[in-house]
Amino acid sequence: MRRLRTTVTTWLPSPFLRGSALFQLAGWPLAYWAGSTLPGLTELLLMNHALITLASLWPQSPLLGPNLVRLPKAERGEIALTFDDGPDPVVTPWVLDLLDHYGATASFFCIGERARRYPDLVREIGARGHRVENHGYSHRWNFALRGVAAIREELRRAQDTLTELAVRPPVFFRAPFGIRNPWIEPLLRPLGLRLASWSRRGYDGALGDPDLVTALLLRGLRRGDIVLLHDGGCARDRNGRPVVIAVLPRLLEEAARKKLRVRSLDQALEGTRMALGSEARDRHKHARPGAKSAILNPKGDP
Ligand SMILES: [Zn+2]
Repeated sequence: MRRLRTTVTTWLPSPFLRGSALFQLAGWPLAYWAGSTLPGLTELLLMNHALITLASLWPQSPLLGPNLVRLPKAERGEIALTFDDGPDPVVTPWVLDLLDHYGATASFFCIGERARRYPDLVREIGARGHRVENHGYSHRWNFALRGVAAIREELRRAQDTLTELAVRPPVFFRAPFGIRNPWIEPLLRPLGLRLASWSRRGYDGALGDPDLVTALLLRGLRRGDIVLLHDGGCARDRNGRPVVIAVLPRLLEEAARKKLRVRSLDQALEGTRMALGSEARDRHKHARPGAKSAILNPKGDP
């Protein structure tokens, strides 16, 4: 636990960011005063700047700081299942029932605004033994382009809302659209959050063909994967049915066939050097795995 606290509360820029900062700070004055004797310096400075931008746009990038992309102990034969952009009054209950049916658990990266609109759904996610995580408050497209104060407020409002509704505070953050900037990492630390992205997705938020989404998702599915699906903002098939409803059972069947256990992120990290502290364990103590809700047990087609 001490290791986690140290990791969460202290922040040191990544070697890439430290090197880039030094290079930019020293390079531009040098290019200004002695540019003619140092050919190519300006181009190198611009390339470095472009690299920082690319690292911000690449969700799996390790260059800006710690980023959980795959599970550290793949040999345990697990995959982590994550859902973004919920909760949704139609899709989330379906997902919860499917997970119960297959004995799977998952992490739900909820949008704070939606959580506030559907508080019972957030409580239900926790009550069924799953984990509620932070996906920002308003999920704006320009999240990573905003200033430090605005981003801090986005993170804090979501964290406060989700902590209140889910009982236990989220411990992971996933950036809206996977886009970051260099100053998000130090803002996560005081909130006890760590960045988590994914290693596998089927674009179920954009593609309306369940067969194609399934194929993209399952091709090469292997232990240690962190799988991204959506229970909010789902694409619909030609019959108007959320694609994830057709895709999730196929994923869970394939995982069972490959003898892969489907876990939430914190469960999949238990016993590793990235294990969460007692707050996560407390949360599971309060959860009622497999519990069925009186308010959420839809049986009809969405
Ligand atoms: Zn999202």
